[in-house]
Amino acid sequence: MMRSFFLYLSAADWAKNLVMRMGPARRTAYRFVAGDTLDDALEVTRRLNAQGMGVSLDHLGESVTDEAGARQAMQEYLVLLDAIRDNGINAAVSLKLTQLGLDISEDLCETHMRQILDRARDTGRHVTIDMESTAHTDATLRMFRTLHADYDNVGIVIQAYLYRSEADMRALAEEGAFVRLCKGAYKEPPEHAFPDKTDVDANFVHLTRLYLSSEARANGAYLAIATHDEKMIAAAREYIQANDIPLNAFEFQMLYGIRPKLQEQLRDDGYRVVIYVPYGTQWYPYYMRRLAERPANVWFFLTHLVRR
Ligand SMILES: Cc1cc2nc3c(=O)[nH]c(=O)nc-3n(C[C@H](O)[C@H](O)[C@H](O)COP(=O)(O)OP(=O)(O)OC[C@H]3O[C@@H](n4cnc5c(N)ncnc54)[C@H](O)[C@@H]3O)c2cc1C
Repeated sequence: MMRSFFLYLSAADWAKNLVMRMGPARRTAYRFVAGDTLDDALEVTRRLNAQGMGVSLDHLGESVTDEAGARQAMQEYLVLLDAIRDNGINAAVSLKLTQLGLDISEDLCETHMRQILDRARDTGRHVTIDMESTAHTDATLRMFRTLHADYDNVGIVIQAYLYRSEADMRALAEEGAFVRLCKGAYKEPPEHAFPDKTDVDANFVHLTRLYLSSEARANGAYLAIATHDEKMIAAAREYIQANDIPLNAFEFQMLYGIRPKLQEQLRDDGYRVVIYVPYGTQWYPYYMRRLAERPANVWFFLTHLVRR
């Protein structure tokens, strides 16, 4: 109920205009967002790198409906990639295709992606395409495949809550793709997604094993296990140990500001850990999705609003 309400708010312009004007809301969002500027993102990245963690930087933005906005987003990613190189930090990049014009035209989005991937390749960086709602799943996978034919530095997110994900991951394993597996953060109907969390969790474990299997690895498939759920992590670790999966076949990923102790524990246990760090002024939908995931975050948000 609470989840649905906050996912509804994440896409509601009236709520966005209201919340983004509230200073305290902005300050609570900074728990999950590095800050408004590239400098903020670089500072957080340096700190995480010093703690032995990799970073994937997301310049926040999505659902762009005008060409100029999509072009500007592309240019901001070029600036980000140059800054990663110039500062010598350990960071990859994450982005959303609707930020780069997917809703305007696939050709426009592809042009922008090729410019970003060329720069990423020149600077030795990896780019992961986030997965948005099911309105975009087919187009996102299509774009990934077009790009993956020409670039080996591109990966894609798959959501365990979708029924289709097993078939998608089997195909991606044959293609030797980099996949970041997460549970899924959008509001989806029962025609597309498991309504029960227990089924989502069971599918996450199943897909983790599938993608770490020797058949998938034989094709060069690589898995980023993106979750803060200790049960998912324990199941992955159990499979990894039982099957002697090499450390260079996978990594754990978590979002900035969530379960930092668990992040450190995985690092201390010798695993590769990458933190997804968003930054920029367009934090509203990202923040609402984080509130939707956990009722305790909503109380944190509300108590800070009331205090001011
Ligand atoms: C690196 C990364 C990239 C992602 N990219 C995408 C994407 O492209 N598309 C997409 O749909 N989703 C994406 N997600 C979000 C994901 O789908 C989930 O919504 C989110 O990770 C919560 O699921 P969970 O696996 O942590 O499990 P849950 O069962 O939701 O949570 C497990 C535990 O983690 C902690 N936790 C989880 N969420 C929060 C929170 N918001 N605040 C505080 N504590 C929390 C709590 O302790 C909770 O008990 C991404 C997640 C990660 C880690």
